[in-house]
Amino acid sequence: MSVSTRVDLALLGVRGRPPVTRTAGAGPSDDGHLVIDGLNAAIPRNPLSPYVFDGDRVLLDGVDTGLDVEAVDRPRFYDLTTHDGVRYEKLAKLHGRDVLATTVVQTCIRYDADQRCRFCSIEESLRSGATVAVKKPAELAEVAEAAVRLDGVRQMVMTTGTSAGRDRGARHLARCVAAVRAAVPDLPIQVQCEPPADLATITELYDAGARSIGIHVESLDDDVRRRWMPGKSTVPLDEYRTAWREAVRVFGRNQVSTYLLIGLGEDPDDVVDGARELIDMGVYPFVVPFRPHPGTLAVDVDSARAPDPAVVEKVSRRVAEHLQLAGMAGADQNAGCAACGACSVLQNVGG
Ligand code: SF4
Repeated sequence: MSVSTRVDLALLGVRGRPPVTRTAGAGPSDDGHLVIDGLNAAIPRNPLSPYVFDGDRVLLDGVDTGLDVEAVDRPRFYDLTTHDGVRYEKLAKLHGRDVLATTVVQTCIRYDADQRCRFCSIEESLRSGATVAVKKPAELAEVAEAAVRLDGVRQMVMTTGTSAGRDRGARHLARCVAAVRAAVPDLPIQVQCEPPADLATITELYDAGARSIGIHVESLDDDVRRRWMPGKSTVPLDEYRTAWREAVRVFGRNQVSTYLLIGLGEDPDDVVDGARELIDMGVYPFVVPFRPHPGTLAVDVDSARAPDPAVVEKVSRRVAEHLQLAGMAGADQNAGCAACGACSVLQNVGG
């Protein structure tokens, strides 16, 4: 597959409904999950896309693109319910072919309209009834055990909305990790959170059993941060840098990552320079195209558009080159988005 087709798919999306999809939620969403050329691919669902997924193939203007495409089957664990009657599907989702993903707290202190990240819809899936506000550790342990046993899940991602406490949500993450590891000791888990104010919390996450961590900044440009993430930009970049360094010390080089979004109006050279700084620290920059989806302020208020495909490809290639020079690959992360790769094209270009 040409990289440009993969980039087009990441930006234009597909018509049709793959069996495994997600709608609103934390991070990139409103996509269908496929395996393309053997790699996970989370492709936006777009009724206006020139690409169609017909169940087996991806067609462009009615012609088979020849891509090696596999749909991810609806997992069996979705049909189960907890002892308390909560459907497992409301507690965690299958991402890609083998990643179990959950948002342990589905609310965020930054979700007021003038504070929230303009690309985020974390509370929309809660409003629609698709999920529950707080996942209990014991529930997640139950779901994870079933997902591994029934559906061959190989890693787990736990993210969280930000809480008002100094830990910014990390303590509940640690409780959830410990419960899942007790039930499924070999399941690698990545946790994702804002930099905790108390750095010792990073060690608590590791001691609970997490083996990778994402501390996601999305942009290293303070103007972009204030515009796109007014609430989150109040956490200074220096706090991120301190947290990343501590996380690398605790979790190891290339077991720490951060999202960097392409398409927030930043000069592409600056994105690459920022990625390089991160790589030098041992942090994997998961560069991901900004994905406009309804339910976010970016789309509903700003009418923001997806970035230029040529820019996405160029930035991804340049970041992948730096990763290769540093001997860092997403696939070498124990768990998490960089290991999954579906929301980025980095793995397609060797990152
Ligand atoms: S890259 Fe992360 S958010 Fe995207 S599908 Fe994979 S696990 Fe989910």
